[in-house]
This record gives sequence, structure tokens and C-alpha cells, in this order.
Amino acid sequence: MRSSFDDPLARGTPRSPEASTRRGGGELDLDLLPSLVVFDLDDTVWWPEMYMTAGNFHFEPPGSTRVVDRLGEELTIHPGARVAIEEMLNRPRWRRANAQIAFASRTDEPAWAMEAMRLLRVCTDPRGRDVTLEDAVDHAEVYPVRSKTEQFHRLKEKSGVPFDEMLFFDNESRNVREVAALGVCCQYTPDGMTVEHWREGLAKYEEHRGAHRGGGEQELGGGTRPSLRRDGSFGSLSAGNSGKKGSGSGGRIFFRP
Ligand SMILES: [Mg+2]
Repeated sequence: MRSSFDDPLARGTPRSPEASTRRGGGELDLDLLPSLVVFDLDDTVWWPEMYMTAGNFHFEPPGSTRVVDRLGEELTIHPGARVAIEEMLNRPRWRRANAQIAFASRTDEPAWAMEAMRLLRVCTDPRGRDVTLEDAVDHAEVYPVRSKTEQFHRLKEKSGVPFDEMLFFDNESRNVREVAALGVCCQYTPDGMTVEHWREGLAKYEEHRGAHRGGGEQELGGGTRPSLRRDGSFGSLSAGNSGKKGSGSGGRIFFRP
């Protein structure tokens, strides 16, 4: 899991209030990055799907990073998943946002999937060390289940992230429909996750988040819905209509609870 290789810069460092307000200067608006990105595994992160393999994954040839099953069939990571995870772990913008990574899979072969996560190298970290899928992930919900929504309820509990701050990638339309009904922003990735899916998902999340922030404030009237960071370090509330997409962020007020 992530803590095995990460450093304090990447984990446990709350967003600074100053950083969250730096918008329009070409830098960032961390509110528009998801707090948790969830990936399906079979044919979203990797190919082939677990049920199509013979299990018993290992490196072939020994000492290489090429992962194959018992019959020599290679297991590979789709380019979009690789780029997404690499950016989340290494890009300064993502590291400042302190976003979490999760896998949600309904595979019938969870033991094989966990073994594949342990072996597959996805990128290197900022110090040049190999990072496996197991290293990269904060939360793994990998087991047969009737609906993926059950795994999302568990992810919400474990991560402390509300559904509307999650972004989900899956190659099955059924999973996308069911999870989207929870209020999670979803990106459909038929035939495996591409880099375009990653970019589209992020753009969709910006709109999704902007809509949720604007709507939430209106419900209470007066535009002053306070929110508290998950780690409790500080909270914020908006003054006026600053929470609405495209209106800037100058009206956000930060406080210590
Ligand atoms: Mg799948």
C-alpha cells in the first residue's frame, strides 16, 4: 500500500488554504481534483481479465518485469491507467492535493488479482524507485460482490471521501450506471483505459464538482455552506457565489475549527 514507499510530502500533508485559492494565475485549483480516484481492474487497469488467465503469475524471464500466468500469457497495464497513476503519484499538483487511489473489482479470482497487483510495475516514484500497483493503492476492494456500489460504500467509510469527490473508471457500463447513481463522477472505459479516458474523466469531474458545489450552497440559501477538511486541520466556507464554476475563488473563507 501507499505508505510503504511514500514520503511526508505526498501523504498526510493537508492542502494549504492559500493553495486552494490560487486560481486563474495558471497554477491550480485543488478543489477541482478528485479526492479519491477509483479504478476497476479487469480490462480497465490490466488485460487480460483474471478469469481468462491461468493464475500463478510470475516474472518471465526470471529477473525481468514481464508478468505472465502459468501458461505464459502476459498480463499488461493499459496505457491510460499507467499514466493516471503515474501522474497522481508524481505530479506536484496531485501531490499537493493529497488524493487517494483505490481499486474496486468484482473479480472471481481475488487471490490472483492481489498477486498481479504485487508484481506489476506501474511507474517509478520521484526518487526513481519502482512502484507496483500494490504500492500505489491506498484502498483495494477486490472480491466477488453483487454490486460495485457495496464496495463504494466501504471506500467512502475507509477513505472519508464523500461520493461527490470521487472519480471512477470502469469498462463495464453496468458498473458505471450503478456507481453514478450514488453521485460519483464516472468515466466509461470500454476496451481498456486510454490516456484520453483519463483526460476526459478529469474534465468531467471539474464540471461535476462545480455543479455539486453550486447546488449545495443554493440549498442552504445565502451561499455559506461550510466544509471541513477530512483531517480536521481547517475548514472553509464560501461568501457569495464563489463556489460556482467559473466565478473565481476569491470569496472562500478559511478557518481553523
Ligand atoms: Mg472490468
